[in-house]
This record gives sequence, C-alpha cells and structure tokens, in this order.
Amino acid sequence: MTMLKRSLPGRTSLKLAAALAVLALTGAQQPAAAQELAKDLFGAEKLPAVAAPQSFGFYSKGCFAGGVAIPMDGPHWEVMRPSRNRRWGHPAMIGLIEKLSRDAAADGWPGLLVGDISQPRGGPMLTGHASHQIGLDADIWLTPMPDNRLSTDQREKMSATLLVDEKTHLVKDALWTPQHMRLLKRAASYKEVERILVNPGIKKKLCDTVKGDRAWLRKIRPFWGHDYHFHMRVGCQPGSPDCKRQETTVPGDGCDQSLAWWFTDEPWRPSKNPDKPKARELMTMASLPRECRAVLDAPAPSSAEAATYHDKGGDKSIADATPAPPVAAPEPAVTGDAGALPASANAFAATPEIGIPLPRPRPGN
Ligand SMILES: [Zn+2]
Repeated sequence: MTMLKRSLPGRTSLKLAAALAVLALTGAQQPAAAQELAKDLFGAEKLPAVAAPQSFGFYSKGCFAGGVAIPMDGPHWEVMRPSRNRRWGHPAMIGLIEKLSRDAAADGWPGLLVGDISQPRGGPMLTGHASHQIGLDADIWLTPMPDNRLSTDQREKMSATLLVDEKTHLVKDALWTPQHMRLLKRAASYKEVERILVNPGIKKKLCDTVKGDRAWLRKIRPFWGHDYHFHMRVGCQPGSPDCKRQETTVPGDGCDQSLAWWFTDEPWRPSKNPDKPKARELMTMASLPRECRAVLDAPAPSSAEAATYHDKGGDKSIADATPAPPVAAPEPAVTGDAGALPASANAFAATPEIGIPLPRPRPGN
C-alpha cells in the first residue's frame, strides 16, 4: 500500500492551470524576468509545486510539478548530502528508488546510499549536474549502505569510494563485487528505467564478466564520471505530455567499438575550449518550457514532510495511487532557444549507431 502525506487541493491545480492559461495568452512576449538565469530561480526553491505530477521539457532543460521527497531514511536506504535538498523527484521516480532499495536488499545489497535526484521543482542547478531537471534522474552510490545509521554530518562528509582507476579507466578489481553487478542488473530490469550511466570502466567490467542474459547491458551506457555512483534515468511518465523523450538506446549490448573508443586518448583530452560557458550559465527562463514559469509560481506545500513520499512497501506506484487532477498544459510545443545552448545541454544523447561516438563536451555530471 502506498500512502502520500500531502494535501492536493483542486484549487491549487486550478491556479496553476490559470497561470498557464495567462502565459498562453501572452504569447511570444517574454517578461523581463525571462532573462533571469533559471538556475538562480530554481536553485532558490525549497519546496515543490503543489499540482498533479508533471514533467516539462527535457532532462537537461526543464522542470517539474508535483514533486515528492524521498524520506531521509528508509529500511534500505539513506539520503546522502542532505543539505543540497536534492531528494525530490517525480513520484514514479521516488517510488522506483524505494522499490529498488527493497529488491536490492533481497539480492544481497545492504541498502542504497541515495545521491542527488532533483531540486524541489527541478530546473537547472547552481552546481553540478546538467540533467536531473525534470524529476526523472537519480544518482545512486556504488558504495553499500553501512550497518550503522549515518549521522547528518557523516552524510555530508563521507567520501565515496572510487571504483575506477583514473589512469587506466579500468575498474579496481579489489573493490568490484558480484553484488555491484546485481544492483545494476536489478535497476536495469525495471521497464521505467530507460538508461543507466556508468563510468566506461564499469561498463567494460560488465561486458567482460556478465554471463547468460546480457540484454540488460543495452541500458547501461558509458559516460564520463560515474565512478562512484550510477545514474538511473526513467522515461517520461504518463500525465506529462510536454515531457520530451530521450533517444532510444541503440540495439545490442554496447560492448563494441563504441565502448572501445572510451579506452583511446580521445575522450580524455583536455577540452579545446575550457572557458566555454556551461549550459546553466546561459539558461534563462526563456530557454525553458514556458510552463516552468507557472511551476515556479505555483503554491508550495506546508512543509517538506507534507510532500514526503512514505511507501509502505507495496509495488504500486504513487502515480497510480494518487487521483491526479491534470494540470492544463495549453502550450502545444516546447519552444525555446535550444540552438543557442551548448551541446552539453543535450548530454546523454544516444551514442551514434555507426562508428565511434562523436566527442562530446564533458558536463559536470
Ligand atoms: Zn546523475
């Protein structure tokens, strides 16, 4: 059974719908506030937008309403770096992390150390990730949860274990265990999970060692960083018509020349243009789907606890359990100035199907 301690009055959804309607009427005219950097506005939000859960835009350029928080502690998880206030996500994402924590525990992984998910209303962040903007990305540490409960101070300061040698880009064999493999396989087994990003060394380790069913390796994608955590990305959820789908992963297990490319010098050369601004330095409100303005303006719940997702252990997703008054989304298409943004705004696009992948800029995460 799933229980959501959150009030969801229809009136607030109506307000959001009204705000969206006003935005639709103002058409292409952008208010002066549109020039503010979106990271400053979304980075300042402490609580989610009360409305039916809905993601707007893309993983690296969007926002979301109806966010819920994962509790700081569960039977099989602990939230890390709590001061960042990035334990918010679409209810389907939060429910899935809790389910993974139970399934992983049954598989022999003691519990999850949960890293960043999203800001309460998503959007670009002041520091770190290029993506994680629509409540459908989560970082899970590759360090098992310790036996003793971590104090708040430990959660802020405990350093993660790097599983990959920085020089060879290969997994440190002394640290890698079959339980790591099982955890990734379990996460990849969920239909909601469209891809999982890991360091190329981890992908190679899986390619070299996984026997039997290898179909799940298709979802495991190599990427820079991700040497102490993996990044789990869920697809656009029902009720989010303005959520932009990512490209599907290419067929096959990915243990081919596209992986071999990562073990050449090319991906690791210093950037030719190190001073190029990151996407978040250019992203104004005008860059985001226009619904994101209404998401910013929407009412907040009375407290974080009031929007915290308490799962009693069932498999039913919160999205199924919540009677969701739909948020009117009058805008037909997500516009914006995608062309003006650096390519890192589209990080995590699928590896090109043929030949080696094109070098891509290294995003913060
Ligand atoms: Zn991530």
